[in-house]
Amino acid sequence: MLNLDLTEEQQLLEQSVREWGARAVAPRIHDLDRAHQFDRGVLPQMADLGLLGSCIPQKYGGAGMDYVSLGIASEELEYLDTSLRVIVSVHLGLNSLTLLSWGTEDQKNRYLIPQAQGKKIATYGLTEPSAGSDARGIQSVAIKKGDRYVLTGEKMWISLADVADNFLVFAWSDLNKKKQRDPNGISAFIVERAFKGFSSGTLKEKWGILAGNTGFFKMDEVEVPQENLVGREGEGFKIAMFALDQGRYTVAAGATGLIRACREASVSYARQRKAFGVEIGSHQLVKEMLAQMESDYQASRLLWMRAGWLKNAGRRNTKETGLAKWFATVASERAASDAVQIHGANGYSDEYPVGRFYRNCKGAVIYEGTREIHKLLQADYLLGYRTDRPTRCELPPYA
Ligand SMILES: Cc1cc2nc3c(=O)[nH]c(=O)nc-3n(C[C@H](O)[C@H](O)[C@H](O)COP(=O)(O)OP(=O)(O)OC[C@H]3O[C@@H](n4cnc5c(N)ncnc54)[C@H](O)[C@@H]3O)c2cc1C
Repeated sequence: MLNLDLTEEQQLLEQSVREWGARAVAPRIHDLDRAHQFDRGVLPQMADLGLLGSCIPQKYGGAGMDYVSLGIASEELEYLDTSLRVIVSVHLGLNSLTLLSWGTEDQKNRYLIPQAQGKKIATYGLTEPSAGSDARGIQSVAIKKGDRYVLTGEKMWISLADVADNFLVFAWSDLNKKKQRDPNGISAFIVERAFKGFSSGTLKEKWGILAGNTGFFKMDEVEVPQENLVGREGEGFKIAMFALDQGRYTVAAGATGLIRACREASVSYARQRKAFGVEIGSHQLVKEMLAQMESDYQASRLLWMRAGWLKNAGRRNTKETGLAKWFATVASERAASDAVQIHGANGYSDEYPVGRFYRNCKGAVIYEGTREIHKLLQADYLLGYRTDRPTRCELPPYA
């Protein structure tokens, strides 16, 4: 039976993130954004709300919530600012949920538990200076030496690069397969910031998500113990794609929150601002933009909820999650552009939040699969060129 009502727990979560956001984030976010400042102080607060391990089972230090709750949290966080949702996307979506499905018991004890409790922060390193969409184009290598792998390479455009303690890293462990671009030669590793030869930095020229941290890290012959290999050797590409199924879900729900923020700011402005003797909301062309925001918000929400429902049921959701991510991020770009338009010249100033929404929304049309990559994915499903990849975990984490 289809039921779109939120459960009591989900409503409580929504309410607590909203109240916390209004009190602790909203009054400060403008200044943090202008100062290009990542506020580490939000991390323990998010941990206290259970957001850093929301749908990780309690036995692994998490809050034991379901996937729809993760969507609700993501929507509420990006309603405040994209930088907050990004924390959940990389720390929980891309990293911790992947360890939950693919990690050994030892890896869960050493890494997942402190991450779910918010004692350690984690991220995901796939992209490199010369390879983004084309993940097989990465150049990082992992050479096996006795009971260790020696990792060398550089990762670029990594969220929380200068903040995270733990990194889920992808590198070629089979150099012959690298030459043939056979993805079965890629492996996944847990790398700690503390490992010798690891260094990171922040990208200074970024023009959106300014209250977030985005950077790069370098691995100069970093020795990673065999126990930190995630999955089996050669399963890294599959693991990277599995992780994206989780991360994209949070991006879809987050973009939905950004549309809601655009809609609320625009409705409020349309009721205050007068032109030609009437509120601008009475002009049909302004109404059209507001109506589009409403339909985009509702459709985006339904799409991420359907993906969350599939995840809760332990069913395949690569296609549905991809569709939700593609639709919501493109719609959020339209909503942010129209929100600026409705605000006229005021929208072109940072006095109003819509300029920040406009700068922030674009990243999500690029990361976790660009708009074009998602179009290809959907078309390939239609054409039968693609069927769902086999992934190891199809069960919800609390099952
Ligand atoms: C703010 C931000 C945060 C990020 N955080 C992370 C992170 O935490 N971890 C991480 O690993 N990565 C991260 N990324 C990187 C992101 O995932 C990549 O930027 C993304 O995958 C696109 O890769 P690219 O930038 O190399 O673009 P390219 O792959 O070079 O693409 C350039 C253009 O070509 C198009 N294109 C490429 N291939 C095709 C094709 N086959 N058909 C049609 N069009 C195509 C693309 O759609 C795009 O328009 C982040 C990026 C940003 C902007």
